[in-house]
Amino acid sequence: MLEGKTGLVFGVANKRSIAWAIAQALAREGMRLAFTYQGERLKESVGALAETVDGALLLPCDVTNDAEIDAVVREVDEKFGRLDTLIHSVAFAPREDLENEFVKTSRDGFKTAHDISAYSLVVLTRAALPLFEKSGGGSVVALTYYGAEKAVEGYNVMGVAKASLEACVRYLAANLGPKNVRINAISAGPVNTLAARGIKGFTGMLHHHAERAPLRRNVELEEVGNAGLFLASPMSSGITGEVMFVDCGYNIIGL
Ligand code: NAP
Repeated sequence: MLEGKTGLVFGVANKRSIAWAIAQALAREGMRLAFTYQGERLKESVGALAETVDGALLLPCDVTNDAEIDAVVREVDEKFGRLDTLIHSVAFAPREDLENEFVKTSRDGFKTAHDISAYSLVVLTRAALPLFEKSGGGSVVALTYYGAEKAVEGYNVMGVAKASLEACVRYLAANLGPKNVRINAISAGPVNTLAARGIKGFTGMLHHHAERAPLRRNVELEEVGNAGLFLASPMSSGITGEVMFVDCGYNIIGL
């Protein structure tokens, strides 16, 4: 389905990462991929995964660093000459701001959470725009969580940053639709990843979701990967600005 197309994936930390699940689905359908890693610490582990994907590029990028973002886009332009898909699977908030009562959120923690988890979608999409234009359009997929809409215990400042991310999805979609660039988000149910372990009470959250979700289980990584494939592919060509839940139906339940 995606032969001849190219994708740029931000947010692989290890084989449990949602970004990796999406990347595997994209690669399975023939997309050529570039992966970024944040800092030397992750170079080896992300590199080992990237090596298993035919013709993949591996590039350093901290999404708060404009020079690194520019370098990634330059390299992708040089090696691929186009871009069809960008996967934004990146989020961070300082641990103390996740653990403290929400009212105690620090100014710096608030700024950091929004910079890395929401603003980065805007800056990465802008940087990729000239490459999307070479492809005649593009698809951007971001990852969000239900805590953007409802107050979820322990999610705190990350919920506020995700609300901002979801608004960025809509504004980017409205802005870039005329260029045939689509921007959507997947609101995934809880998945046991590195980032998720930073949330206090995460195991309880997993149990709660599995008990209440209509499908009576938690979502599988592969299911989030396949949803990413759908939003990245021409199968979703009429969809932009949406937040699509992939959560075994948890969000539809009232009482
Ligand atoms: P993950 O494997 O830990 O991925 C998070 C990624 O964000 C890591 O690769 C991390 O790199 C990267 N990152 C953090 N700060 C960065 C920066 N400044 N520059 C570049 N990359 C940075 O966890 P995940 O659960 O797959 O998270 C992926 C996305 O899914 C996030 O947006 C998350 O909020 C969202 N999500 C997760 C769940 C869940 O239950 N797991 C549910 C819904 C949505 P480092 O490891 O170096 O920090």
